[in-house]
Amino acid sequence: MGEADLNRERLELALEAAGLDLWENDLVTGTVTRKATKTFLELGFTEEEIVSGLQDVYGLFHPDDLATVQSAVSDHMSGVTPQYRCEFRLRAKSGEWVWYANYGRIMDGHTDTPGKRLIGVTFNIDDRKRKEDEIAQINRQLREQNALLQELNTALEQLAACDALTGLSNRRTLMEMGARECLSTGQLGQPLSLMVVDIDHFKAVNDAWGHLAGDRVICAVAQACLARSRTAVDIVARFGGEEFVIVLPGIDAPSAMRLAESLRTGVSDHNVLVDGDGACVTVTVSIGVATLYDARGASFEELVNTADKALYRAKQAGRNNVQSAVAAESAARAEAHMLLDPGQTQGSSALTN
Ligand code: GH3
Ligand code: MG
Ligand code: MG
Repeated sequence: MGEADLNRERLELALEAAGLDLWENDLVTGTVTRKATKTFLELGFTEEEIVSGLQDVYGLFHPDDLATVQSAVSDHMSGVTPQYRCEFRLRAKSGEWVWYANYGRIMDGHTDTPGKRLIGVTFNIDDRKRKEDEIAQINRQLREQNALLQELNTALEQLAACDALTGLSNRRTLMEMGARECLSTGQLGQPLSLMVVDIDHFKAVNDAWGHLAGDRVICAVAQACLARSRTAVDIVARFGGEEFVIVLPGIDAPSAMRLAESLRTGVSDHNVLVDGDGACVTVTVSIGVATLYDARGASFEELVNTADKALYRAKQAGRNNVQSAVAAESAARAEAHMLLDPGQTQGSSALTN
């Protein structure tokens, strides 16, 4: 056996072992000098069909891949790419699409074949492509599920942060946000005011009109509180059954007192519809106001307690009433900072409770 025959056998073995199907095009005559027979057999065509038909190889390419294949060929032909490489689907005789890849290069002709030839191999990449598709599909589903989970988490966080009846912040959220507000207003050197609002004789509303009517009254007062607050600045929370807290960053005692007065009169002037027959109830609120002039290191709980003590005095003063207090610790700091608190003139007991 001559060296040339041996080399041919060696090449055949290497192609077979690697699953490669060698093909060759004569670029001068534009003819296919070696067909990718193995590939066409794999696609279900008979030897006869391969020899006689299949002239229009491009007709077997998936329409979505055709442009990619043609541009890969022309890029290599024009010298843009050192090799011709592309991945594409071919239509099997059964009509099924199968993924293949091509790797080829223009080579100078054999001595008896002047001009240039495009020689390449085709190999089946269907398994790899299907796995890639599966992984892409799984990743897509994971992304969708993650987005849904994130939405649900946000909705859950919102539910956990809010009071179910009024939609206001709940007590837990108030205490967390309030503590943060103490820090930030303290750092800015601004005052921090807070109101505790309690509906007067609310038990009597429940007793006379029923629990649902009571709920409507609670919602109406919640709305009145919201209506007097600054969006994204003040914190309006339902503190307990018929009690609300409003945190007013940057608001000093006199301004807080004015706001509380406006809320008090607003509630008492408003009729709340409590049943389908048009029955209305009017309620009043008592309000305790407290102001910190230096919130640095101050406790938010303490500010709430101070306002609560002022509320107690408002109840004692006959209800439908507003009382103010300046947190003792804050007042001491205010004095140290030579700050005059104009709110002291309005409150009944400005420094102590
Ligand atoms: P005061 O003027 O001293 O505040 O008297 P009050 O009757 O308002 O206060 P009290 O603490 O005696 O009663 C509060 C009532 O609020 C008792 C409770 O049943 C009722 N309550 C608490 N939560 C809710 C609620 O979500 N809906 C309704 N309808 N009532 C509630
Ligand atoms: Mg009450
Ligand atoms: Mg109460």
